[in-house]
Amino acid sequence: MSDPNTPDNDGEVREIRINPVVPSESVLVATARSMRPKKAEELAPRDTRKHVETCPFCRGNEHKTPPVILRWPLEGDWQIRMVENLYPVLGDDREQAGFNFGLQQTIDGYGRHEVIIDHHEHGIAVHDMAESHLAALFGIYQTRMRQLFASDERLKYVLIFKNFGPAAGASIPHTHSQVIAMPVVPENVDAEVRNSAAHYAKHHHCIFCALIDEALTFEATIYDRSSGAVRRKINVGQYVVERGEKFIAIKPFASRYEWEVHILPLAHQADFLDVRGEDLADLARVMQRTMARLDAVIGGAQYNFFLHSVPHDSRRQANAPSYHWHLEICPRTSIPTGFELGSGLFVNTINPEQAAERLRAVDL
Ligand SMILES: [Zn+2]
Ligand SMILES: [Zn+2]
Ligand SMILES: [Zn+2]
Repeated sequence: MSDPNTPDNDGEVREIRINPVVPSESVLVATARSMRPKKAEELAPRDTRKHVETCPFCRGNEHKTPPVILRWPLEGDWQIRMVENLYPVLGDDREQAGFNFGLQQTIDGYGRHEVIIDHHEHGIAVHDMAESHLAALFGIYQTRMRQLFASDERLKYVLIFKNFGPAAGASIPHTHSQVIAMPVVPENVDAEVRNSAAHYAKHHHCIFCALIDEALTFEATIYDRSSGAVRRKINVGQYVVERGEKFIAIKPFASRYEWEVHILPLAHQADFLDVRGEDLADLARVMQRTMARLDAVIGGAQYNFFLHSVPHDSRRQANAPSYHWHLEICPRTSIPTGFELGSGLFVNTINPEQAAERLRAVDL
């Protein structure tokens, strides 16, 4: 591996980076033009209209959606509104046994699928939402997660995510996020949970906390073990994109997507449900500023974001010291190719250190 901090003369990086949390997921960072096998994903021009007469998620069309589950604020005009999904991928009306036959196994499609209309304004971008509004939205996420876990002990995981743009899976242009409650822990969350528990067993610290510490280290010197001479200096502080009082946004060293950014609590915390109400404002501020940075650099890019929190299964207590909740923001700036699907190796054509620098340099 070449040193990411001292790239070749032409600034090119070509190396395989191992995801520190899930080592089976690696990324090929290849910035040389000739190494770019990807096609650029189309931008999704934002529909900036505040109100659209025919949109089922706009105010005045409440009768076009399934019944409301939650709303904010409770009185007066709603600003955030949560409803059941008209076309659920999982539904609680489908009580059926799992099906197993030889190598063909299915898991019961039991669960819940709900929609959160993030904002009453049709086309508002996340970075244009007020911090107080975003804090209320995170509060709604927590309230619904709590209600779902309390309502049915078969639910093991609640995945909250947002899609922006058709390629990112958004079928309705009005800004919204989704909640899917599942009877199983998704494999990628489970891999994070298992690997971070293994790291904890071996090193007695949370791997995510260690990654944050590294990101906050401004300069580290690596000495040669035998001679004591300086082998190299690395500036790991370069992974910080945004820092709040309680939360931090960092660019993962092994980013799968060119502009991927993760937001984590600075102090160890396994469960998103443990974020205190008064801290949601800081989370909202870090989120809002991170999205503004992304918009300034890759405005119009389609993206997904999703929350990873400790699963509420039998291992919850045991995993509390080793797992650290986070929000992953994954802008889709290029289309995965057969190479990526066939190898499982993500190709990232922008050096993560340079991407972080460009995001940090945005004047907000
Ligand atoms: Zn609308
Ligand atoms: Zn931690
Ligand atoms: Zn994750």
